[in-house]
Amino acid sequence: MRAALKAVGELVLARGGPARLARRLRRGEALVLAYHNVVEDGTPTFGDHSLHLPRSAFARQLDLLQATHEVVPLASLLEGGNPDPDRPRAVLTFDDAYQGMVTVGARELAGRGLPATIFVAPGLIGSRSFWWDALADAAGEGLAPELRQHALDALAGRDAEIRRWAAERGLREIGLPECARPATEAELDWVDRNTGITFGAHTWGHPNLLRLSDYALAEELARPLAWLRARFARVLPWLSYPYGFHSPEVRRAAESAGYHAALSLEGHWIGTLGDRFAVSRLNIPAGLSTHGFATQTAGLR
Ligand SMILES: [Zn+2]
Repeated sequence: MRAALKAVGELVLARGGPARLARRLRRGEALVLAYHNVVEDGTPTFGDHSLHLPRSAFARQLDLLQATHEVVPLASLLEGGNPDPDRPRAVLTFDDAYQGMVTVGARELAGRGLPATIFVAPGLIGSRSFWWDALADAAGEGLAPELRQHALDALAGRDAEIRRWAAERGLREIGLPECARPATEAELDWVDRNTGITFGAHTWGHPNLLRLSDYALAEELARPLAWLRARFARVLPWLSYPYGFHSPEVRRAAESAGYHAALSLEGHWIGTLGDRFAVSRLNIPAGLSTHGFATQTAGLR
């Protein structure tokens, strides 16, 4: 009962007062949301906690969004126009293609008939986890900022090199739940055939694109798009920059590799689409309350 009352309260809050006014001001604009994993309720916390959103919290966010926004496909941002001029648009994106997302999260979206895009790094398929989760647990108290910095700078965000470096320092990886691993090709195939979700590229091996040679950069961008197109029907030539990192050089390389657009993480609303290779997204961390979600997606912060 309390939970039901709370949910009603949150819906009233999201629909009324300042939030409604803020959304009215944003009605010609779009907000692209960036998620990572969705996990079953009751899954013990693991890895980088900010990335793993419980299913019920995800469902509440979708309820709110459907009540207040027009949820549109990512590709429609390039077409302009708004199917419902009275409400702002929202776009759902998911980085990394976690197993939890392509099973639990994808079913939640499919049940509502909502469009969304998952960004896949094919080079990591078959791996048992992502380095940032494995190291967060190995270190015992989350991923320390200086460790993350070293992994992203000196080790260029490369999974294999980071794990080797960590092992040399005695950081032992702890077993993570199944939902923490990258989805398999078969799981992605299920999504392709049974939902309205599309796939985009998240590079081949999820490196820091700012730290690569020209040749390596071109490879990281070209390979995933070819891989996705060879396997799946619903592929968008869109790129999501790993860790959100990009530069003029990286943006030019993405255009040369045949992408139509690319997504960053600066958190801005989109009025008129400016640089197609720096389309801003708002990151939705797993710890965000439903109230915080309603406030942020209304444009109040
Ligand atoms: Zn990522």
